Formats: sequence, C-alpha cells, structure tokens
Amino acid sequence: TPADAIRNFCIIAHIDHGKSTLADRMLQLTEVVDKRQMRDQYLDRMDIERERGITVKSQAVRMPWKTRSGEGEGGDFVLNMIDTPGHVDFSYEVSRSLAACEGAVLLVDAAQGIEAQTLANLYLAMENDLAIIPVLNKIDLPSADPDRYAEEIAGLVGCEPEEVFRVSGKTGVGVEELLDAICEQIPAPVGDPDAPPRAMIFDSVYDTYRGVITYVRVVDGRLQARARIEMMSTRAEHELLEIGVISPEPKSGKALGVGEVGYLITGVKDVRQSKVGDTVTNARGPAEEALPGYTEAKPMVYSGLYPIDGSDYQNLREALDKLQLNDAALQFEPETSAALGFGFRVGFLGLLHLEIIRERLERESNLDLISTAPNVVYDVTMEDGEEIEVTNPSEFPEGKTRAITEPIVNATILTPSDYVGAVMELCQTRRGTMKGMDYLSPERVEIRYSLPLAEIVFDFFDQLKSRTKGYASLDYEPSGDQEADLVKVDILLQGERVDAFSAIVHRDQAYHYGVKLAGRLKKLIPRQQFEVPIQAAIGSRIIARENIRAIRKDVLAKCYGGDISRKRKLLEKQKEGKKRMKNVGSVEVPQEAFIAALRTD
Ligand code: GDP
Ligand code: MG
Repeated sequence: TPADAIRNFCIIAHIDHGKSTLADRMLQLTEVVDKRQMRDQYLDRMDIERERGITVKSQAVRMPWKTRSGEGEGGDFVLNMIDTPGHVDFSYEVSRSLAACEGAVLLVDAAQGIEAQTLANLYLAMENDLAIIPVLNKIDLPSADPDRYAEEIAGLVGCEPEEVFRVSGKTGVGVEELLDAICEQIPAPVGDPDAPPRAMIFDSVYDTYRGVITYVRVVDGRLQARARIEMMSTRAEHELLEIGVISPEPKSGKALGVGEVGYLITGVKDVRQSKVGDTVTNARGPAEEALPGYTEAKPMVYSGLYPIDGSDYQNLREALDKLQLNDAALQFEPETSAALGFGFRVGFLGLLHLEIIRERLERESNLDLISTAPNVVYDVTMEDGEEIEVTNPSEFPEGKTRAITEPIVNATILTPSDYVGAVMELCQTRRGTMKGMDYLSPERVEIRYSLPLAEIVFDFFDQLKSRTKGYASLDYEPSGDQEADLVKVDILLQGERVDAFSAIVHRDQAYHYGVKLAGRLKKLIPRQQFEVPIQAAIGSRIIARENIRAIRKDVLAKCYGGDISRKRKLLEKQKEGKKRMKNVGSVEVPQEAFIAALRTD
C-alpha cells in the first residue's frame, strides 16, 4: 500500500467510555469482521480484559475504508487502528502507541465528560503533534449532555464545539462519518522508502504456539520476509520468519513498507528480546540511527508475593516465569520472610499492574497468594557516601544515613468544583505541593499536585473516590526524586523483628503506623503460654507497645475426662493448626494472623 493511502490512528479514551464498542462497530462497518463472527469487544483477548473491561496490551488492526466523498486516492484508504492501554501504569506503552500514529480519536462519554487519564493522554498526543479528532460517544443515552461536553472538549482541543463529532458506538450512529473524517483529517505517514528500514516496536506479546509476536510500525524503507533483522538497542540479530498484518486475524505477507503497521515473528521466546520502543532494522546494511524514544520500563512499586501454601513455591516461580515472557516490565527475585516463608520480591509499574499480575497468577495458575504492602524504591546515601537502592523496607541499611530520596509524581486530578476543598485537603495530608488549578467549565476543575509516589500507592485513589462521591479521576507521571525525612519502622514480637511488617514511612507518620500495626497484631495473635510484647521501633527506639497476656492453653480441660473420641479429635485438630504456625523467636503465630494483618487496609 502506498503511504499516501495509509492512516494510522489510535483511540484515546477513559475506561468505560466505549473504546472497545466503537472499535467493534468500525470492524463491522469496514467488513473486516462479518456479522456471524462478531462478538462484543472483539479485540479484547485476555479474559481479564473482558471481565474487568480494561485493555492491558495494545493491539493493531488494519481496516480498508472507502470514503463517500471519494477524494484523495480515489477514496480508498487503509486504516490502522492502534489500541492504547488507558491506564497510567502503562504510560510508557501509551506513548509508544501514540508515536506509531499520525492522529488520535479523542473519545469522551457524552454523559460523563473527559477524565484525568484521558486528559493526560490527550496532552501527550498533542505534544507528539498528532491530529486530534474530538468525539462524544454514547449520544443515545438519555443522560447524555453533548452540548455541555462539546464546549468543554472544544476548549481543550482548540476547536469549535460544532466540530466535535457525536456518535454512538452502540447503535452505530455517526461512525461512518467518523471513519471518513479519519481519512480526511489525519495526515498520511511520511518516510523515506529508499532508506535502510527502520520500524518501531510498539508492542510485543508472547504466544504459546508462535513465540513472541512483535508489533511494529515501519517508518523508513521496507522490512522483507526472510531477511536478517537487528534490534538496535541490543544489536541482537534474528531471522524474520514471518511478517504480516492483523485484519483482525494475522495474515502473513512479503513485506511492510513506509507507514505500514503489522507484526513480525522471529522465533524468540521472551518479550525482553523484543522490547517496546526499540527499533528494528536490517542486519545487513542497517540504519545508522535508532528512532527516538527508547527507555527501559522501570518498576516503580515493589511487593513481596508469597504462596499461602508453602509447597506452591515452585509453581509460583514457574507462573512468574511464564508471565514474564509476556511482560518485559515484570521483574522478580526470590525472597524469604520469617513470617511468610519463601516467596518473591516483585517489581511492578504501578498498583494496577500489581493487581493484574496477582490476579493472573491466582487465576491462570491456581495459586493462593499473599502480598506484602507495596513500597516504592528509595535511594539511601550513607554517612560515608555509599549509595544503596532499597526496594524492600526490611533491607533498609542500619548505619547513619546522610540522605534518603523517594520518587515524586506529577498528579492531575479532575473533580467537580464542589469537591475542590476535599481534594486539596487530601493532597495536603499526603505531603503534596499544589502546582496549579484550571476550570475546564464552571463545574469541573483540573488540579495539579506534586506528590510522593509512596503516598499514592497506598489508598490514595480510594480516599479520593470516597471524598468526591466517586466523581474525581486521577492520573500521574513520574517526575524524579526528592529528599524526605523518612524512617524505617520495625514491628517486634518478643524482641524479634517481623520482616513482613517493616515499613519506610515519613517521620511524622511513624508513630501512627506503629500504634496501628501493634494494635492490629494484638487482636490477631492468639495468647501463648507466656506474655508476648508487641513493639514498634525506629532503630533501637521503641515508639509503641502492646502486650498479649499469657494463657494456660489446655484444650482437654473442658472435656471432663469422659468422651475419648472427642478428645482425640481435639488433639488432631490442634496438631493440624500447628502445621500452619510460623515461629517468630519462641512465639507461635498462625500464618493467618500475618495474612489478616497485611490484608486489612
Ligand atoms: P472501554 O472501556 O472504553 O473499552 O468501553 P466499552 O466499549 O467496554 O464500553 C463500556 C460500557 O459502555 C459497556 O457497557 C458498553 O456496552 C457501553 N457503551 C459503549 N458504547 C456505548 C454507546 O454508544 N451507547 C451506550 N448506551 N452504551 C455504550
Ligand atoms: Mg476496552
């Protein structure tokens, strides 16, 4: 296909605003999928995506379209729709998907208005000079208020309210006009067809049968089947076993030229060898310079993952290995905890990433897991100048420190104006610094804050939702590190540290954290034959203390000597209970107590 007839676009939308439904209509109208094969959310392949209604991995589909005006190329176009993950945790993947497009459809629910994540992605698209086509969706809903939101969007995009398209992905109203507009308003890709090939990887997924399938957008030159190709960041060479387009199933072909979007298969088995953002070129006669924008996706949040049943450890390792084939951003290493046994320290892009991985482990590999409270990465500079990266609070160094830094994010919150006070109060208590505020309309406000990431990873989002009756939305992006007055709080049982409960917290919150956990454990740990002190400490300084009083534990006492079989049953029951006990020093703690203490919150 000549580049002039190609239109590469993505759909920027908040979760639930109807991206998958609109994509379904487009697949139908372009006759890429016929009525018989059609099912809802055709492109959302992973079970978890369909159930939770989120798109985790991006996809690309090629669709032919003939415009009714017939202008330009006789009206015959090839559209490549590149799906973008909508969530902040995957912002790196979002920006790679945007870089593969010349235009973006900004899709907004006509009953809801724009949300913070959409806003962030819109700004990203505008920075990338993408043509923006503003669209209000769900106009069939009785609660739709397109006039009001057209005004809001026009203000953001810099167009007239009348230029905002009005569609319904559900009924199909306006979708043909939208497809025409994509052909007419989005520029054709530009590239040098005679240069050595350069193609950008915007996604790569692991397939059990085919190995890694790499999605690319060709910028210059041609990528040919059977050629030897090179990944420019690693200089790794592979043979191009197959090249083709997705429409909507893979169709192999001979080559991909300038502006085309498609897939490659090289037989590699691990997505880390085919990284999002990398440039593919020919091994013989390679391009001189890689395309801009390759950065490693770095974990922002760490958590310990432990099997509740210790004998599942090996299964957990295998399951993590398997997921890593598909997720270059997932990192893990073995870890042991006195309280929880053998497990793994796992690095995630953010909280949603953590939740998704955990759920996939439990669901696809049938594992029962417990995760420790998530923490961010701290950089500690010791008195002697040594620098230590701490990804696990229990590894926080003991000696004198000169400085500790923590990651900071720029957060954008959209809220109805009634809740501005409540949102600001929340951000202030989370050590936030206000950066700015804009009214999108008299009723809706964009508030910008600089906040420590650690303050967001706990329950910030839940708090935000509950303080705004669910109306506020949040987005954030990393903005470097900042020094902070942080301390490690340990929890001690009879003088022994319980590693799973060590936490790095701001000095002002240390006391509160210590009291809360000591109190919680007191309720959960059964009484022992002796008194057990529970203490919270910063270094050797005790900041909170509770006591579990001693008990003489005689389960047979209440049987009055009579019923032998009942006695035996009780003894067996007690033995069974013991199996799941963990010893912290001489204190026996049921694993359930640790699990419950970690679960609450
Ligand atoms: P996504 O999260 O952006 O992919 O959104 P979905 O396409 O999964 O849609 C979210 C919900 O909105 C689903 O229940 C859809 O049935 C519904 N929906 C999507 N488009 C429309 C529309 O145009 N009109 C109405 N009434 N509902 C819609
Ligand atoms: Mg979707």
